[in-house]
Amino acid sequence: VKCIGVLTSGGDAPGMNAAIRAVTRTCLNKGIKIYGVRLGYKGLHDGEFIEFDSHSTRNIINIGGTFLKSARFPEFKDPEVRKEAIKQMQKVGMEALVVIGGDGSYNGALKLTEMGINCIGIPGTIDNDIPDTDFTIGFDTALNTIVDALDKLRDTSSSHQRCTILEVMGRRCGDLAVHAGLADGAEMIITSETGFNEEEVIETLKRSKATDKKHALVVITEHITDVHQLAKRVEEATGFETRANVLGHMQRGGRPSAKDRVLATRMGIKAVELLEEGKGGLCISEVKGEIVGLPIQEVLGHKREVDKGIYEDVLKLR
Ligand code: ATP
Repeated sequence: VKCIGVLTSGGDAPGMNAAIRAVTRTCLNKGIKIYGVRLGYKGLHDGEFIEFDSHSTRNIINIGGTFLKSARFPEFKDPEVRKEAIKQMQKVGMEALVVIGGDGSYNGALKLTEMGINCIGIPGTIDNDIPDTDFTIGFDTALNTIVDALDKLRDTSSSHQRCTILEVMGRRCGDLAVHAGLADGAEMIITSETGFNEEEVIETLKRSKATDKKHALVVITEHITDVHQLAKRVEEATGFETRANVLGHMQRGGRPSAKDRVLATRMGIKAVELLEEGKGGLCISEVKGEIVGLPIQEVLGHKREVDKGIYEDVLKLR
């Protein structure tokens, strides 16, 4: 392969820049021409390409977000739109593509591969919701952001003897809530996997209030219930003064953690190596610490396995 493009697509995640840098440097070291594609598949369709040299990705390894920008571009599901994107790629001789994003972006990468353009996906999403990889790029940074917030909430919650409910991201995968809840000793962790039973929440908090413990933390993932209404009902039922907080987009930003930078860098290198071997339709995964390429079609067909050990530990501390 003589010329590769790299783009970021879907929700941004800290560490995407480190992956772009690794892809770029690996290409340049191998004598492969490398283009950055702005604004995800939209930029691919519009021909928004920047030829990268050794200066292009300087000083970005430690910066959050994606300097190539990301976009949602549902039009890319239309084969005619993809054909136009391929024409733009052909104009500059771009033969293959690295796509950094979530499962939606993987679908686009698979479709392009089926049309003759080898694509490799890299999992860039804070939710850790991609099957068959231990971690996705951005998860560790977002987790640390949540833990910081919980530490701060714990200070005020314990000073005022309150119950604090924190809503975090992860609508299809509760890993952020589970890991953050364990890291901060939350009384309760509620995710789509643990299930939500309001009576149980209230009974647990009543039990907690009856002991010496005069404050409580509850971590819950988004889209389970209205946390402000839940706080009101908890306060009425338990007598605990209760406040709800929604952390929101703050979780997506910030300086990538060391762990995310290392993961992103290793995945970026592997993606270029696979394209060099003439492979496409694969995504990069971390499997028990090893960086491997797996078929996107298989990965997307799998249900993401919940880490049973961690969830059992959550229940043990309830
Ligand atoms: P996140 O997990 O952060 O939401 P994502 O990659 O899953 O990231 P999506 O918005 O689902 O985010 O997908 C990103 C982009 O991928 C879409 O805007 C669209 O351009 C492309 N895409 C998604 N699904 C398909 C598909 N079935 N065929 C072709 N392209 C697709």
